[in-house]
Amino acid sequence: MKDFRTPHTLVTGGAGFLGSHLCDRLLAEGHEVLCLDNFFTGSKQNVRHLAGEARFELIRHDVTFPLYVEVDEIFNLACPASPIHYQEDPVQTTKTSVHGAINMLGLAKRLGARILQASTSEVYGDPRVHPQTEDYWGHVNPVGLRSCYDEGKRCAETLFFDYHRQHGVPIKVARIFNTYGPRMHPNDGRVVSNFIMQALSGTPITLYGDGKQTRAFCYVDDLIEALLRLMRAPREVTGPVNLGNPSEFTVRELAERVLELTGSKSEIRHEPLPSDDPTQRCPDISLARRVLDWEPRTPLDAGLKLTIDYFDDWLRRTPGKTR
Ligand code: NAD
Ligand code: UDP
Ligand code: UDP
Repeated sequence: MKDFRTPHTLVTGGAGFLGSHLCDRLLAEGHEVLCLDNFFTGSKQNVRHLAGEARFELIRHDVTFPLYVEVDEIFNLACPASPIHYQEDPVQTTKTSVHGAINMLGLAKRLGARILQASTSEVYGDPRVHPQTEDYWGHVNPVGLRSCYDEGKRCAETLFFDYHRQHGVPIKVARIFNTYGPRMHPNDGRVVSNFIMQALSGTPITLYGDGKQTRAFCYVDDLIEALLRLMRAPREVTGPVNLGNPSEFTVRELAERVLELTGSKSEIRHEPLPSDDPTQRCPDISLARRVLDWEPRTPLDAGLKLTIDYFDDWLRRTPGKTR
């Protein structure tokens, strides 16, 4: 029988990197958690430690298909996030963002549930405004290799706001900037996981382009705190709201930090810059500071150390991998 005092929360993409940390936090705060995933990039391993928890349920499901469950709130995180994964089947990536949003919004509408969308800084494309504020409309290539992700996420934002205006669905749209931490996919080609894996295994650090492009890296615990604050914010706080760390680093600086923290002797090897790779990206988080009273607390070195420990352990546990 449904317990009406405990919030029932659906996390789509719950077996992924961010989703699994979100499930941990929700359970720690007493929620019933329904974790949904098709395991495209996520894995059961990420939530295995929750298997014995009575308030946790894992279901294999693809958000591009309708879903009939009873919950109070929905965190819609399902979508591959790294370029090599989302470009593997670009049509499915757009379907996940667009059909997935329609289905989850339809579910929220039927239930009167709050729904949060994990959107992305990629909606700004290769930005001409710096740092990016939420009122900037972006500079996005609609027909490039990244478009399946960028335009899919932009369309999902449109759907969220139309369901809000047309049907009164209580929405929250988070524009997430580069986030890193334990349980990132070791082979997803993202810069933090690549550099740490390369440094730990003594292989060359692959620096794309001249390494002067910038990113701002947010530690996962800080980001999860922001998602929870956004979901709990008053109804009129719909977003879109930028969530990320406003400390900007060049990718070369990141490589140097990883080399120093791991004590690795890996050399830096230059490789070509991928197409449509944004040259500068950094969030303006004034809105999040104001409406969520939130800002990241974890300095880059501290977050990198925790992530290095995770990958070090992962390499030791994984047969055939060398440390
Ligand atoms: P991830 O790849 O680890 O997690 C995504 C999860 O969604 C995976 O578990 C995957 O199996 C699942 N999934 C994919 N397609 C699905 C489908 N059709 N149906 C059901 N499940 C599906 O990535 P992440 O870094 O945890 O990202 C989570 C969300 O946050 C994504 O929506 C991503 O776009 C967004 N985001 C992440 C970052 C970041 O830096 N990590 C930045 C911006 C936005
Ligand atoms: N939907 C769902 N679960 C629900 C309600 C709806 O998965 O509990 C899906 C269903 O596939 C539907 C979509 O959400 O097509 C959009 O729902 P909406 O009510 O907006 O529109 P409909 O297509 O039903 O007119
Ligand atoms: N990058 C790099 N070497 C790598 C992986 C990525 O130099 O092995 C660069 C990439 O070109 C980009 C930045 O690091 O400029 C961040 O890339 P990532 O794919 O992590 O995230 P996104 O481009 O989506 O911000």
